[in-house]
Amino acid sequence: MCYDEFMNVRNYQKELDKLIEKLKRDGGEPRHLVLHSCCAPCSSYCLEYLSQYFRITVFYYNPNITLEPEYRHRVEEQKRLIAAYNAKGDKYLIDIVEGDYEPGLFLELSKGLEDCPEGGERCFKCFRMRLEKTAELAKELKADYFATTLTISPLKNAQKLNEIGEELSKSYGVPWLPSDFKKRNGYKRSVELSAEYDLYRQDYCGCGFSKAESLKRAQKTPD
Ligand code: SF4
Repeated sequence: MCYDEFMNVRNYQKELDKLIEKLKRDGGEPRHLVLHSCCAPCSSYCLEYLSQYFRITVFYYNPNITLEPEYRHRVEEQKRLIAAYNAKGDKYLIDIVEGDYEPGLFLELSKGLEDCPEGGERCFKCFRMRLEKTAELAKELKADYFATTLTISPLKNAQKLNEIGEELSKSYGVPWLPSDFKKRNGYKRSVELSAEYDLYRQDYCGCGFSKAESLKRAQKTPD
């Protein structure tokens, strides 16, 4: 019995494995997945892995990125990575939908949660904002599934992300694709791919609060 089973914690990677096995047995056309992406580095492994099985529409929707130049730079890196993957031509083609840049929405939802540390309630609201828009798009495109790259980050609560995804799946009537991409060295692979494709890797999550936390951490770290 593995640790997750012993602790009665759901293993979302195993759930994804089972689902992929079932899709392979069922055969037919590749299923359409709308994959929310936070940035090119996090998406690098997720796309390498999932584009073997799914026709993917990447949805770049991140109003949490407070600084516009940072936001634009991350979008361009996302597009560059997708173009490079598509040029290889060894998997299903990936397309991208760029969501609106609406940082006011994030600032509104974070009111009263300014002092919340990274990983707390503000992040849960931030996840929900981005996943809800992804579910909306998946419904509009009549996609088979929706998911997010966010579960690759060791700093993000994969259980919470999956719980929110499952809740939205019920509201929008689009199946949620369970994931915990950091398992099986997904995060490590994303670091390797980022180096291989020379991707810009930011040192903070996206909002002004996370940037301030990152600066504080850097100041505490001795040379
Ligand atoms: S730290 Fe990241 S997930 Fe949390 S609120 Fe800021 S941008 Fe959103």
